[in-house]
Amino acid sequence: MGKTALITGGSRGIGAATAKYLAARGYGICINYHTNEQAAQTLVTQIKSEFQVPCIALRADVSDEAQVVRLFADMDEQLAPVTHLVNNVGVLFKQMTVSDMDAERINKTLATNVTSYFLCSREAIKRMQPGCAIVNVSSVASRTGSPGEYVDYAASKGAVDVFTRGLSLELAGKGIRVNCVRPGFIYTDIHADGGEPGRVDRVSGQIPMLRGGQPEEVASAIAWLLSDEASYVTGSFIDLAGGR
Ligand code: NAP
Repeated sequence: MGKTALITGGSRGIGAATAKYLAARGYGICINYHTNEQAAQTLVTQIKSEFQVPCIALRADVSDEAQVVRLFADMDEQLAPVTHLVNNVGVLFKQMTVSDMDAERINKTLATNVTSYFLCSREAIKRMQPGCAIVNVSSVASRTGSPGEYVDYAASKGAVDVFTRGLSLELAGKGIRVNCVRPGFIYTDIHADGGEPGRVDRVSGQIPMLRGGQPEEVASAIAWLLSDEASYVTGSFIDLAGGR
């Protein structure tokens, strides 16, 4: 079976590292992004020249059902049907307590971080055969709850954990594996969206391994879970949080 991976939110951070990691292992790559076309196209150029695999970038807001349906149809046409899905997209907003959160923010967080995982998995399953696989990107926040920062984000990751468990059991008998990674503090731009670009360095002293993680350290776990080396692994979680 030829391997074709779709990485949602794949143009930066952990998603971009995963795209490169999978390209190095021969996967055809579809990078999904939302707003930053330049970052996505730069990554496509880099992957094609460095790894000589087919690679495209497709813009879609994956919290929107119609755009998700179109994303998968465009991928069928321009690359190949998806065999390996990485539900990686994730957003968080300015740090605040629950008492200050409004419905617009909470719903946006849940639509992007949870609804998109359901919708993208639904479209992927229609195309998948035995041997195909899905990895969801959750967070250590599903255990800590992120008090005073973004409990909405943490709750969305709790939903991703439960989604992983449920979907893995629905698909186990069909030979499609579903697993999850839970990163801790990783050096990406997401922390700037929360209003604190230096967050990883601030907390690194509280991490047992005394450092933040790199996107490539998460990418390697995602790639392993997708690979045939993990052929008996489903409904499982890998925490990548330096001991937290
Ligand atoms: P990031 O650097 O902020 O990148 C976010 C990516 O998501 C970008 O490619 C962005 O595209 C895309 N995106 C945002 N909204 C989208 C939407 N509605 N539709 C499609 N794409 C969208 O994020 P990251 O830190 O790599 O995080 C990746 C995953 O890891 C997330 O699920 C996050 O929750 C999880 N995680 C991260 C950490 C950490 O410390 N970094 C820790 C635990 C878990 P544009 O740039 O085009 O908008």
